[in-house]
Amino acid sequence: MTRVSEEAAVDADALLRRHGLQVTAQRLAVLRAVSDRPHRTADDIYNIVRAEIGAISRQAVYDALAALSDKGLVRRIQPAGSPARYEDRVGDNHHHLICRTCGRMVDVDCAVGYTPCLTAADSSGYEIDEAEVIYWGRCPDCVTATTSIQ
Ligand SMILES: [Zn+2]
Ligand SMILES: [Zn+2]
Repeated sequence: MTRVSEEAAVDADALLRRHGLQVTAQRLAVLRAVSDRPHRTADDIYNIVRAEIGAISRQAVYDALAALSDKGLVRRIQPAGSPARYEDRVGDNHHHLICRTCGRMVDVDCAVGYTPCLTAADSSGYEIDEAEVIYWGRCPDCVTATTSIQ
């Protein structure tokens, strides 16, 4: 597992360069925002970055996210019926839990151990390199909220 946040504290500049990306204040700020607050949407990240560095366009944030996910520095998750979310926990093929009520998303490790869920019951001859599992349900807060209303 690679966490950009740990490396970023040391040298985010070098990290970007190592992945062939030009280092800009905007990319660094976007990377930091994703690292600090995983599983947020591009719009959330735009608001976080704008509060932090001031002048930045929505398009610049979208472009930075595209460049970072392109190079594998951030992972883009696209749940059904939700805008894409971004995180910097990449390369370990972990899965996600999503609350249907409030949309909160959290990480969950794979169900079967080290090579996460890559052994399909029937691979149909495909060479499999990724398994994406999303568990849908309600988070503890939302369960508590509805229980206390009743
Ligand atoms: Zn919830
Ligand atoms: Zn995650």
